[in-house]
Amino acid sequence: MQFLIHGVHWLLVPISFVIPWLILFLIGWSLWAAIRDILDRSRQMHRIPCADCRFFTGDYHLKCTVHPASALTEQAIGCPDFESGKRLPLPQETAY
Ligand code: SF4
Repeated sequence: MQFLIHGVHWLLVPISFVIPWLILFLIGWSLWAAIRDILDRSRQMHRIPCADCRFFTGDYHLKCTVHPASALTEQAIGCPDFESGKRLPLPQETAY
């Protein structure tokens, strides 16, 4: 056994140097990829205009009076009916 260890010693030293650095590199690469994905996703979510649209109700029952299915989703990016301004009041919010 001792003979075998001395026989491959010249190979174990570079391997024991490379493997930890390779693991550190892969961890760093994974962290970088995760941060990049989070930033890309965050940028994409901030492109959804519904929160500033006057047709957005703020009520989860009917999020938008024009496009209820696509409000607050990525489908709303570039919505042709986006209109900036104060949101319209819901029927129960109006004073009688
Ligand atoms: S009209 Fe378009 S931008 Fe405005 S709330 Fe509805 S889906 Fe969003």
